Amino acid sequence: MDCSICGDSIETTWFGWSDGNNAEPVVEGGRCCDTCDMTVVIPARLARYVPAVRQYKPSKETYPEFRDYKGF
Ligand SMILES: [Zn+2]
Repeated sequence: MDCSICGDSIETTWFGWSDGNNAEPVVEGGRCCDTCDMTVVIPARLARYVPAVRQYKPSKETYPEFRDYKGF
């Protein structure tokens, strides 16, 4: 089975699951790989149900508490 988002093939897990993850709401009825689940689908769900996430743009300027954080 191929990922509905990136098109890569979805790997079978060690416990034999080969259908990947639910890709909704990004792809209606779609299935996606673990990478897309973590980087695309979960953020999309959060943005959909938690309006504050939509505005969340961490930066050194707007969030002084992250001043020493080098990950951006
Ligand atoms: Zn994918």
